[in-house]
Amino acid sequence: MHKGNEESKALREKIFEYVRVRMDYDPIPLDYPKSEQELFAEAGITLTEQGLGGEQALKLFQDVLAPATISTDHPGFVSFIPNAATEAASLFDLVVSASSIYGGSWLEGSGAVFAENQVLEWFAAEVGLPKGSGGTFVQGGTIGNLSALATARQAHRNNLTQAGINFAGRLAFIASAESHSSLKAAAKMMDVDILLAEPAEDGRLQASSVKSVYDSAAEHSVFAIVATGGTTNFGIVDDLRGIGEFATSSKTWFHIDGAYGLAGVLSNKYKKLFDGSELADSFIVDPHKWLFAPFDACALVYRNPSIARATHTQHGEYLEALNDSGLWNPADYSFGLTRRTRGLPLWFSLATHGIQKYREAIEHNIDVAHEVAALIKTMDHVELVREPELSVVVFERKGWELADYNAWSDKLLRDEIGFVVPSSHKGKPNTRFAIVNPLTSVALLTEILESMK
Ligand SMILES: *Cc1c(COP(=O)(O)O)cnc(C)c1O
Repeated sequence: MHKGNEESKALREKIFEYVRVRMDYDPIPLDYPKSEQELFAEAGITLTEQGLGGEQALKLFQDVLAPATISTDHPGFVSFIPNAATEAASLFDLVVSASSIYGGSWLEGSGAVFAENQVLEWFAAEVGLPKGSGGTFVQGGTIGNLSALATARQAHRNNLTQAGINFAGRLAFIASAESHSSLKAAAKMMDVDILLAEPAEDGRLQASSVKSVYDSAAEHSVFAIVATGGTTNFGIVDDLRGIGEFATSSKTWFHIDGAYGLAGVLSNKYKKLFDGSELADSFIVDPHKWLFAPFDACALVYRNPSIARATHTQHGEYLEALNDSGLWNPADYSFGLTRRTRGLPLWFSLATHGIQKYREAIEHNIDVAHEVAALIKTMDHVELVREPELSVVVFERKGWELADYNAWSDKLLRDEIGFVVPSSHKGKPNTRFAIVNPLTSVALLTEILESMK
């Protein structure tokens, strides 16, 4: 197991070779899931007292496990939210692993944390937050939302205490009925209530709807209002300015869940959709969704990080050396302690390619979505459910039931053309293209649309 002997050096070369092969695939195999029984029949018991040896274990991964693992970076993978990491970002993830960086504290990880913080500062400025805002990279949007909402609740409690109010009822936050499931999960974890505001017909949450929920929440004390900067289902951006101004006027924490869509702020052409984002008290954006970084990373940023620090800093005898240092410790800004410097792959790729390339790639994804929507309008067998805004296109195949979508979707995957699963809106089945991969072309999506005839 020691590093540096001949055997481990040989294995190192084999693994690098595998990485080269994986990165050179053209096309990338889409692959197909297998049952546990099938996998067991092929792989058997893989853990033995003596070990298989690296070469054999790698072969097992390459021949048996990898082909049963869908490639979310295949250009035809357009369900859920795909992953389309740049090669620079993926490769740097290897460097992060090889470097054994502890990213929880400045003392241990200062160089890496410095670079991560530059990414957070840069993105916060794009969103319009002032200097001094900051946060950390966490595993994903779910943890990011939870950490931000816990901070918002802490701020609210501080305000209540300061005002001499002893509120014994339930706390709540307001979010759109079309917001992400992770917000309901956060409410459950925090044992607070989520008050759902109805968006308008086009899917956009408006301030008037937030206000009426806020005004009728007589039994609750509302500690946060969440707007979505690009819904996962439809890619719709809520009225950030209207909602942000209402939150400001009602002295309520304003959080933007931009896990999927906030990257759209980088496009000069579509930036105006995010007007009002500068009012946020906190926001999240997932680099593993639309900032071309590998799984898993969520950037979490606060306007006033000190409240987050008061909320999340862990105390313990062995930790006080870090807490007393007065240094910027990333672990203080989210739920969790030990952390991988998940922001470094994005930092390296941004530093390598420059920001402009990101603006272009994101704008290109949105343009593809709009082009495909225009195409759908010219086709007789399919119909748009809503006009797209960012890079998600939702449409129905006229006359199809869920079973028809399922059969078609399965064949598409078996033929390794695409991974496009059914979705639904208001109980009616549909399907959607989520376009975050620069290789997902109008031509490929046209082929997929044609296969529904
Ligand atoms: C994906 C998503 C989340 C959850 O993020 P994870 O990284 O999957 O935990 C939250 N909100 C929105 C809007 C999302 O699209």
